[in-house]
Amino acid sequence: MTDVLEKARKLLARKGVALAAALLVLAIVAASIALPKLLAESVPEITYSAFSRELAEKKVTKVLVEGKGLSVTIGDRTAFVRLPSGLVSTETIDRMTAAGAEVDFTKPGFDPAHVASILVPLVLVGAVLVLLAVQTDFKPASRWPRVIRNIPDRFDNVAGQNEAKAELQEVIAFLKDSEAFTKVGARIPRGLLMIGPPGTGKTLIAKALAGEAGVSFLAVSGSDFSAPLVGVAKGRVSKLFQQARKRAPCLIFIDEIDAIGRKRGGGGSSAADREFEGTLNQLLVEMDGFNTTEGVIVIGATNRVDVLDPALLRPGRFDRQVHVGLPDIAGREAILEVHAKNVKLAPGIDLSTIARGTPGFSGADLGNLLNEAAIFAARENAAAITRDHLEAARNKIIMGLERRTLAISPEERRLVAVHEAGHALCACLVSGSDKVHSATIVPHGQALGLVMRLPEHDRFCIPVEKLEADLVVAMGGRAAEEVVFGPKKVTTGAASDIAQATDIVTRMVTEWGMSPAIGMVRVARQGENLPREVEQEIRRIIEEMYDAAKACIEENRDRLDALVDALLEHETIDGDEVRRIVAEQVERLAA
Ligand code: ADP
Ligand code: ZN
Repeated sequence: MTDVLEKARKLLARKGVALAAALLVLAIVAASIALPKLLAESVPEITYSAFSRELAEKKVTKVLVEGKGLSVTIGDRTAFVRLPSGLVSTETIDRMTAAGAEVDFTKPGFDPAHVASILVPLVLVGAVLVLLAVQTDFKPASRWPRVIRNIPDRFDNVAGQNEAKAELQEVIAFLKDSEAFTKVGARIPRGLLMIGPPGTGKTLIAKALAGEAGVSFLAVSGSDFSAPLVGVAKGRVSKLFQQARKRAPCLIFIDEIDAIGRKRGGGGSSAADREFEGTLNQLLVEMDGFNTTEGVIVIGATNRVDVLDPALLRPGRFDRQVHVGLPDIAGREAILEVHAKNVKLAPGIDLSTIARGTPGFSGADLGNLLNEAAIFAARENAAAITRDHLEAARNKIIMGLERRTLAISPEERRLVAVHEAGHALCACLVSGSDKVHSATIVPHGQALGLVMRLPEHDRFCIPVEKLEADLVVAMGGRAAEEVVFGPKKVTTGAASDIAQATDIVTRMVTEWGMSPAIGMVRVARQGENLPREVEQEIRRIIEEMYDAAKACIEENRDRLDALVDALLEHETIDGDEVRRIVAEQVERLAA
């Protein structure tokens, strides 16, 4: 029952302005029809014959010639006489004068009915214009921020992204029952950032979070705060938080938060700079101002944490980060399964094959793929989506991806796999390296692939043995490229490995006294440059590490190839799998 009332109330609120507009227009139209009549009929009308008779009896004292007829005074009453054409002939005028009537003419504009017939449409047009202005001016403001209640999305609709989902369980528990947390003084995040490329499901996850917790979802975008009017953006920030408090417990979702949270320019002085800083400051003030007991959580989404103002990331603000990455093969298959529920696939279509054929696709791209395929099928009036439809859709989407320079060709994919396998192999075999946590050829930020290693414990003093192991692992990517494809085929993919290695070796030589040739002295830069013998020493050490990596890979070519195959097959493999593959190859060699 309350549901129905609530719905009616909402409908009224939403349709209210439109309803009022329609009523007003109706009223004006009715008035425009009735008004001239009312004005005309306020004087009784008599027939021309009756008037003629009165005239003949000389009872007419006054005649006022108006646009459509005559206003006549007979004795002490007035009456209106219609004329056939609305015109009075001179003959009639003479006759009236002869009968003793005083004849006069109104100025054309002064006919009240005439005036009304001009004025009413004018008023009408004016009213419509005012209404339109009211609609465009106030409607968006009154509907901002967009609030969604009873969100249907659940974590089940989000395929993969298990780490993000696990990370958010605590937030759900808090939103469901904030008292249980605050009672014991548990500190709950106020803000968290979801970081990842577009289309990976950040909005979807945030919505599902609100759905799981059963709280309202207030959705805004960073670009909502780039209003051209001074103070508007700042006001919107206040309004957002004010609305959120009213609807607590609830979740605020700020998409593209980088649009509002960019690093503040070093004291930029233009009006736009000041406006921007004012808005960001307001956001910081609001974040600090609300109490975690209020049950409001703010989630920001961005692809670029690096551009965010560090003040936003301080404790008590957006101090938690959840990474939402592009899906690997298994993830893509799961996403396809979710979206396949809405379309009709021909029998025999295997989603895992599609998943394999769509490297670099985001969740949104995959949703699109099935949708496009369905459109192709519908155009052909087909009963279900066939392999050809899927192929056509895939090609269409890949073209879009290429424009975004995200699509990976099969050759590139193999190259990335070899490079990452090189890192992973060295990390397994070089003593002193941290354990491999996972290896992937799914793009992460700027990197086309990644081998993640986890230190077993925090280190404060790093032995030279560990530094050298890290260097060999860093060189392992390029070394594998050279061993597999030849020296002419190596690529630009090792740039960050080289930068990282150069950094470490430079410090080994100039700060940490680890080069026998230079000895234990601190070497200062001379302007941009290091002394020649230091440069040479850095070069020698890096080359030595590179040779060690190359030797490791040449000696273990089977293991490298097995890792490459596994990466191409699964895209992401965890540390245990990496170690299993490497060990298995050892056994096979021994047998
Ligand atoms: P983002 O906010 O990261 O740009 P969205 O949440 O807007 O991405 O994702 C757009 C659409 O892509 C979603 O509505 C959904 O249909 C689809 N999608 C993305 N990721 C997933 C996923 N993990 N599982 C299911 N669908 C997904
Ligand atoms: Zn690398």
